[in-house]
Amino acid sequence: MASGLVVQKFGGSSVADPERIRAVAEHIVRTRRQGHDVVVVVSAMGKTTDDLLRLAHDVSQAPPARELDMLLTSGERISMALLCMAIVELGEPAISFTGSQAGIVTDTTHGKAKIIEIRADRLREAIAAGNVVVVAGFQGVSTSSAITTLGRGGSDTTAVALAAALKADACEIYTDVSGVFTADPRVEPAARRLARVSYDEMLEMSATGGRVLALRSVEFARNHGVPVHVRSSFTWEPGTWVQDEEPSMEQAIISGVTHDTSEAKFTIEGVPDHPGIAARVFRSLAERSVNVDMIVQNVSTNDLADISFTAPKADLTEALGIIDALVVELQARGSRHDAAIGRVSLVGAGMKTHPGVAAKMFEVLAAEDINIEMISTSTIRVSCVVHEDNVERAVRALHAAFELAEV
Ligand code: ASP
Ligand code: MG
Repeated sequence: MASGLVVQKFGGSSVADPERIRAVAEHIVRTRRQGHDVVVVVSAMGKTTDDLLRLAHDVSQAPPARELDMLLTSGERISMALLCMAIVELGEPAISFTGSQAGIVTDTTHGKAKIIEIRADRLREAIAAGNVVVVAGFQGVSTSSAITTLGRGGSDTTAVALAAALKADACEIYTDVSGVFTADPRVEPAARRLARVSYDEMLEMSATGGRVLALRSVEFARNHGVPVHVRSSFTWEPGTWVQDEEPSMEQAIISGVTHDTSEAKFTIEGVPDHPGIAARVFRSLAERSVNVDMIVQNVSTNDLADISFTAPKADLTEALGIIDALVVELQARGSRHDAAIGRVSLVGAGMKTHPGVAAKMFEVLAAEDINIEMISTSTIRVSCVVHEDNVERAVRALHAAFELAEV
């Protein structure tokens, strides 16, 4: 890369201990000495965020959202300050900023705030003065001046948003895996690293359980055309580029198979089948920030329909409370839920022009005697909800049947 501005993001495992922090500092200094301006985004060290969350729940059954954000943002403050010290130790000037100091302005939704604007003047000045700038990931300041967090994994979003705001030449996301794979290598050892994926494919992968990049960061990258390079801070080898599709390139039909066991399935049974009911149900869920994913409504019998949907298990209690109220309000017959489910998805831009992918997927699952509970599709994805116990077997069978290990 010609000299320019590069944003480098380091996840929790990349800065887990002093030794890792020194290795990361060396890499940053090397990049700086090649003539690049460097803006760094860091996550909290190792499992710090989980530890802080546990602490909060040790003292409170329902930690106030504002205080929880205040607590969680402290993790990134520790790593940004230590990283700056390690960089200065190597002889390069470095200065750290919290999200708030960096001008990252968000809405007021504690725990999953959205970035509204970045007022990056202070960062620009620090860069112009010759500093390596280190910004705390995963956080900002709301329009009503409260400290907010962007949701788990939010440092990726901080990095891509800063890259967009500063018009960086690239955003490098350093993590403990060496890129984006055709499946989770812990489930399918034959999984292969992809040299590149399109924004749309990466969006689908992140949305369906590909744990490499936070979904919102990919949306940001696509909307602002930020090229993202996902790579390892343990081997430093080139990883996977996430960028625009090149029309000239021969597309693989399927790029990967993802899985996700973080959601539960909910059904509201026997709701009146007339206009406005679905709107009422999903407005209630949206108002309480329950992130609904797949939705299925069956054909009604006797003017009564069942509405099923999936949502994060993390929102289970919240969702059940809302559903109970809806059952009473809509005079529905009742409700059920099942947390022992998982979703397996095939993603590939080539699906648009190749019919038969869904049919083949269902055949592969049938041959494995795996029952499909829900199905949903987009132009470049097919997803099936199956029993949790069948998820990993489904991933391996699909990876083999679609020959994803082969180039
Ligand atoms: N430290 C936060 C988390 O663990 C943010 C991040 O790592 O991106 O979710
Ligand atoms: Mg992360």
